Amino acid sequence: MSPHAELVSRLRAAWLSGKTRPTEYRLAQLEALGRFLDEKKQDILEATAADMRKPPFEVEVSELSICRSELNHTLNNLGAWMKDKHVEKNWATQLDSAFIRKDPYGVVLIIGPWNYPINLLLVPLIGAIAAGNCVVMKPSEITRNVERLVAETLPRYLDEDCFAVVTAGVEETTRLLENKFDYIFFTGSSSVGRIVMTAAAKHLTPVTLELGGKNPCYVSDSCDVQNVARRVAWGRFFNAGQTCVAPDYVLCSAEMQEKLLPALREVITEFYGPNPRESPDFGRIVGDRQFQRVQALLHSGHTAIGGQTDAEERYIGEGPGRTAGGRGELQGGGPTRCGPRHPARQPSLSSLPTAPTVLVEVQQDDPVMQEEIFGPILPIVTVASVDDAIAFINARERPLVLYVFSSRKEVVKRVLERTSSGGFCANDTIMHMTIPSLPFGGIGQSGLGRYHGRSSFETFSHQRSALLRGAGRESLNTPRYPPYAPHRLPLLRAATETKRRATCLLL
Ligand code: NAD
Repeated sequence: MSPHAELVSRLRAAWLSGKTRPTEYRLAQLEALGRFLDEKKQDILEATAADMRKPPFEVEVSELSICRSELNHTLNNLGAWMKDKHVEKNWATQLDSAFIRKDPYGVVLIIGPWNYPINLLLVPLIGAIAAGNCVVMKPSEITRNVERLVAETLPRYLDEDCFAVVTAGVEETTRLLENKFDYIFFTGSSSVGRIVMTAAAKHLTPVTLELGGKNPCYVSDSCDVQNVARRVAWGRFFNAGQTCVAPDYVLCSAEMQEKLLPALREVITEFYGPNPRESPDFGRIVGDRQFQRVQALLHSGHTAIGGQTDAEERYIGEGPGRTAGGRGELQGGGPTRCGPRHPARQPSLSSLPTAPTVLVEVQQDDPVMQEEIFGPILPIVTVASVDDAIAFINARERPLVLYVFSSRKEVVKRVLERTSSGGFCANDTIMHMTIPSLPFGGIGQSGLGRYHGRSSFETFSHQRSALLRGAGRESLNTPRYPPYAPHRLPLLRAATETKRRATCLLL
């Protein structure tokens, strides 16, 4: 028997009792979640700092403020979202009531990743509570301070009959997934997404998969280079590049690259000072395994900016070069061809860094172009035209988001119309995430399903179709019963068939 079977059946019993259905109950749980965010703010700041030296400003913006917005948006609109949606009827059902009821699924499993460990656990939770479900949350074990904080304190705010936090590594999560859930919401890598979907398929459980991938960022020749550099660098180096919607690589002409490089260099210094390693605003790679993976991606093209790494501190980026061998040494530096690099010592598990880095002359078969970077490295790939950029994008898996920078509306429109991606944002990065009314999700390899705001509520609600007929007026039903009489067929058709609307060829 799966170790969490008892928990799941306890939650299912609570759900079947109908406890989570009333609007007041949902609102009370959401308000309690708001109190958790307010009262545990300092603990969240400390836990995220301990896990990956996340700058407090970034935690405020990307974890707390986004959760608060989502919560307020949901509290403001829940009553309207929950209303039955009455639908058009045919002639045969004119006297009846036909509507869509937003029904909770039941017991939902939410599995979160480590990069935004509060946001990516609580924003789906808000949707699941709003829709009237019971929830098992599984935070990432990688950000272990946040995991502990959530496991120890969140259950004190929520109804423990209906909401539970399970702490689990890979093995235990595999066992957890053996249970039958009514919905699984997963955020993480595409490879684990496949494992989750396979486990869900055994029970025919519906899933949302919020996955990653390589987000292209096309910079056209007509744009304000300084603004582009600031917006791209902010999106790329926020959270030390560990953001699913970060611009993964830039596509631009060789001429634009010439202008963009000095602008990026200037902006990186403006943001993080002459030595980003010392900046309190530049985070760290979350763990040793992730650091080694990101560091290996530096063996691509030429390093134009940054390139230094420090395994002790999990730092990758720019800073004064130091001699190899000592503790906290910086490896690499300056605009050099990146040769193979080997950390001088085994990195400690407590901390390690990588500096804001820009790579040029990157080839399509370089390591940095083979996988999602998920670190502070920005490769630039040159293309001859907007159509070349479109062909480059369309030859690859469909990304979570596609960015375009251009002051020419026709360029933005062309890229929007000729490509496919989970989301799209012109002349900025990441900002589309701040609007709860915009559905957020991937397509193809970058994910399945969408959430945020109303989309979260709908994701966690089954659209149950309901027809409430009167018990009498039986004579109206006789045309459909055997023995079938062909002369009644036209009447039956007229009563049930949907007619094509008249079209006017002149319009
Ligand atoms: P991950 O897939 O390694 O882990 C995510 C979760 O799955 C964790 O809770 C982990 O414990 C669990 N898990 C890991 N291996 C498992 C297995 N074999 N069986 C069952 N569960 C398992 O992802 P990560 O490293 O935590 O996060 C980084 C990835 O997540 C990146 O690819 C990033 O793009 C993606 N991501 C996507 C979004 C989005 O909204 N689309 C947001 C953040 C991160």
